Amino acid sequence: MQTLQPLFSGSSGNAVLVESKESALLVDAGVSGRKIITALSENRKSISSISGILVTHEHSDHIQSVGSLSRKFHIPVYANEKTWEAMLTNVGEVPPSLRRTISTGRNFSVGDIEACAFSIPHDAADPVGYNFMACGKKVTVATDIGQMSEKLFLSLSGSAEILLESNYDIVMLQKGPYPVPLKRRISGPFGHLSNRESALTCARLASVGTKRIILGHLSCENNTPRLAYDIAKLYIEECGVLVDRDVSLSVAPRSCI
Ligand SMILES: [Zn+2]
Ligand SMILES: [Zn+2]
Repeated sequence: MQTLQPLFSGSSGNAVLVESKESALLVDAGVSGRKIITALSENRKSISSISGILVTHEHSDHIQSVGSLSRKFHIPVYANEKTWEAMLTNVGEVPPSLRRTISTGRNFSVGDIEACAFSIPHDAADPVGYNFMACGKKVTVATDIGQMSEKLFLSLSGSAEILLESNYDIVMLQKGPYPVPLKRRISGPFGHLSNRESALTCARLASVGTKRIILGHLSCENNTPRLAYDIAKLYIEECGVLVDRDVSLSVAPRSCI
């Protein structure tokens, strides 16, 4: 039984626990190691049971404790070559024995979990999301997405469970306090996914059989869990799929400080 559990999600820090029958791994470690260890213990997991940290991209909300957790607990770190280059100065030295360089689009194993990175449009060196396969089930982590495309949708479809970005409400972003260039970056093709774009994707995913959708990476300033949830529910149910009966829909806890 493979499951997806976001421990932290949002611009203040991200970490997702992915578990199979025999293995557990983290996607990103973007808050302090102490917070991650506490969150893991709340999920009845110890940091020593983590077989790998898989990095999506080098932004600080995804890598804060990648290096320290790896060094202290001897956890292998997986990232593609460009992400390694881009994050090295910020994560510090990771011993060669714990460094794993992955190729986007090529499967690799972490314990009994088969993983595969796929490209996402975002303003980082070589950003990715991840598909995981274990026990015949596909689960996906897909955040920090500037825009949805058919190619990207193909990577998401077929997932039994997904953590999907629903970053901002367009009205809150437009009326909010951010400077104009930052507003443009967030809503641009290499920024983040809006509630509406996310809801459209949720509806398509639910229509083709996704059973559990977790909305994540919500902005603290430009979104609320209620807004993200309500529009996703509306779009899903417009397709004749009922939330709570046919598909589970929830919002990952934000880490707004
Ligand atoms: Zn992020
Ligand atoms: Zn990012």
